Formats: sequence, C-alpha cells, structure tokens
Amino acid sequence: MDQARRVLIAGAGPAGLVAAAALAAEGIPVTVVEQARDLPDDLRASTFHPPTLDMLARFPGVVEALVAQGLICPTWQFRDRRDGVIATFEMARLADDTAHPYRLQCEQWRLTRMLRDILAANPDVAFLYDARASGVEQDADGVTLTVERPDGAAERLRGAWLVGADGARSAVRRALGIGFEGMTIPETYLTLSTTFRFEEAIPDLANIAYISDPEEWYVLLQTAGLWRVLLPTAPEEAAEEARMLDPARIEQRMQAVWPNPAGYEIRHRTAYRVHERVADSYGRGRVFLAGDAAHINNPLGGMGMNGGVHDAFNLAGKLAQVWRGADPALLGRYERQRRKVALDVVQAQALRNRQVLNQRDPAVRRAFHDELRATVADPARHRAYLLRSSMIQSLRDLEEVA
Ligand SMILES: Cc1cc2nc3c(=O)[nH]c(=O)nc-3n(C[C@H](O)[C@H](O)[C@H](O)COP(=O)(O)OP(=O)(O)OC[C@H]3O[C@@H](n4cnc5c(N)ncnc54)[C@H](O)[C@@H]3O)c2cc1C
Repeated sequence: MDQARRVLIAGAGPAGLVAAAALAAEGIPVTVVEQARDLPDDLRASTFHPPTLDMLARFPGVVEALVAQGLICPTWQFRDRRDGVIATFEMARLADDTAHPYRLQCEQWRLTRMLRDILAANPDVAFLYDARASGVEQDADGVTLTVERPDGAAERLRGAWLVGADGARSAVRRALGIGFEGMTIPETYLTLSTTFRFEEAIPDLANIAYISDPEEWYVLLQTAGLWRVLLPTAPEEAAEEARMLDPARIEQRMQAVWPNPAGYEIRHRTAYRVHERVADSYGRGRVFLAGDAAHINNPLGGMGMNGGVHDAFNLAGKLAQVWRGADPALLGRYERQRRKVALDVVQAQALRNRQVLNQRDPAVRRAFHDELRATVADPARHRAYLLRSSMIQSLRDLEEVA
C-alpha cells in the first residue's frame, strides 16, 4: 500500500488504538507511533459506560473479553460519609437504551493491550514504539510526522491524515499551535488499590460509590478482585510527594475511610494532578485531535477515557468516508460535535460532580441529597439521570449538531 495513503496515529492509548482499530476494520492502512517502549499498565480509568461498550462491540470478542476480565456493576451510589446511602441508581432502567445496561469496571490497559494484540495481526497496521511524535508539517496532499527515537535520531513518516491521540501533553496539539485553555484543580488525586473487601464491611455498598463529606470526600470503585479508593489530597500535603505516598500516612487515611484492624494491603498507588481543559480547536487541515489531547477533566463520573473512545469512533467513521473520497468538510462536523460534548457535557458534569462531593454548606448538601432521593424515586427522572451520567444522552444530542 502506498505510504502516502496511510493514516498516522500518534499515541497508543485508548483513543489512538480505538481509532486505529476502527480504521483498520474499514480496510484503511494505519501506522501507530507510541513514545513508550510498551503500553502502560498503570492505574488509570476503570469505568466503561454502556454506549462505549455498545461501540466496542463492533470489534468481535472485545466486549466479551473485557466482561470476562472485569466486573459488571448493575448499580452505583451516592453516599454520605456519616448518613450512608443517599441514592442508588439502577442501570437496568436503561435496558431499552443500550445492549449493555451496566457499568463495567475493568482497567483501561486491558482494552489497549487487547486492541494492540488484535491490530498486531493485521498486515495493514504498523506499530512504531520508542517513537515520540515531535513535529508536524502538512501540504495539500498529506502530512509529514517527525518522530524522535531514544538515541536522538529523527524519522519522517508520510501519511494522508494524522490523528493526534498523544494524551494530555499532546505534541501534535502543540505542533499545530492549538491552545488548551482551562484550569488545574488544586488538589492532587491519589488512587490506591487494596485487597480489603469493602463490600463485606460497609452496609449496602454498591460496586461504585461516591461518598460526600464536608471534610474529605472519596470514591470507592470495585474491579475484579480489588477495590480502588480515590482520595483528594490538599495542595500542602501533595507538595511533599514523599509524605503523601508514605505507607504510614496512606494507612492512616485508609483507616479513616473505614477502620480495618488487620491493616490495609495496598497493591497500587498513583497520584496525579487533574486539569479541566478543552482544546481551542480539534484539528487543522489533515490533522485531528482525539481523547485527552483534545480534552481533559477530573475523573469523577469516569468520562475521560469514555469520551476519548467516543471521539475516536466519531473521527474514524468520518475519516474512513473522506479516505474513500467524501468531501473533507465532513471532518469539520467531528469538531463541532465532539468539542460541544466536551464543553457542554463532560466538563460541566465533572465539575458538578466535584462540587457536590466537596460541598461544605449543610443546607446546600441537604438540598442536593433531597434532590437525589427524589430523582431515584421517580422512574422517568431516574432514567433521564442515567442517560446523562452514562453519556448516552450526549451521543443522542450530537445528531442535532450540523
Ligand atoms: C495517572 C493517570 C491516572 C488516571 N486515572 C483515571 C481514573 O482513575 N479514572 C478516570 O476516569 N480517568 C483517569 N485518567 C484519565 C484517563 O486515563 C484518560 O482520560 C485516558 O487514558 C485518555 O486516553 P487517551 O488515549 O486520550 O490518552 P492516553 O491514555 O494518555 O494515551 C496517550 C498515549 O500517547 C503516548 N504519547 C504521549 N506523547 C506522545 C508523543 N509525543 N508521541 C507518541 N506517543 C505519545 C502515551 O505514552 C500514551 O500511550 C487518568 C490519567 C492519568 C494520566
């Protein structure tokens, strides 16, 4: 296949590999460049929302394998640290809206490794590891992507289109001079995974629980075999990373989450700063951004990776048509649709989720809890809430965007 007809993809995260798999499924040749030597397997996103599973079901066997390695969560909860359950949302109420009426808890690296293994068997797909995208040039016929190797050598790759799926610090976005406005959240997010069985200790606990508290909120997420605890860490403490990650301090914080006389066995720990940003533009000419390269938000609600996967399917669908000869103007709709979702839905919802968990004013907290109780008690409102929080509504609303 003529090199110039290839689609180049920078970044082998969920967005890049889903775009690669969707294009490869259309018979389009793809080259994926990844700066790392191998795909990362650190603790990142773990929630798959129903429409993401509906989309991934286009790749034979992938959802089945994710389900086999993950945990199907039929409910999720808002709780109060002192008062217990405020509202339990039942995903089965979406049975007519999705083929996967549940949240699946499964680490994102399982998806990326699975897609990589499927793609590796496709002769039209090439992978370059240890290849850091660093420069982009384009002309009327194609794109030239410069990648740098660990020894400092540079290679120039030619393709028809380039997808910048190279994460929050996207070199492709920078090369295009696209701004990434927004804010950085003051607290650092600490994610810990433990073998402790919270489901046996905390009464009526769902697999996913957002626990509000005026002093320290936290999130509990169960995966197959482990629980993840997400704890915000104040800037003063986070400034001293060694202190934040000190095993004694972690044990103290876990004991405050739930007393465990036997002590907590911690399997993984990750600390990261969280930003709320959306790229000023999702593309220029023959180059488009997807996933964290285009938008980042706090992880409350699990919309980062899911939004990136939705971007990738949307973009790949349009790129495939243009690759076959459709008017490239079609790609402008990708930006209009997906940037709107990032701004109006994902950022807004993630910020709202954080405000709710953080809320210190007792009257506002009470009013919010009453509102949640009323929402789950009313079948129509319960379903509408789930349609929004599961990102189904945002995908439906996209159809209205010209
Ligand atoms: C430490 C951490 C923890 C997180 N935890 C959670 C969580 O608990 N819950 C949640 O919902 N979300 C979480 N997120 C967010 C979630 O992981 C992202 O939204 C998701 O990974 C986005 O997928 P992506 O493919 O767009 O980007 P990424 O997954 O970041 O993938 C980008 C890929 O591009 C590669 N790359 C970067 N620069 C270059 C370059 N110049 N050239 C070539 N390759 C490059 C990277 O190595 C990486 O493989 C976390 C993110 C981080 C960083």
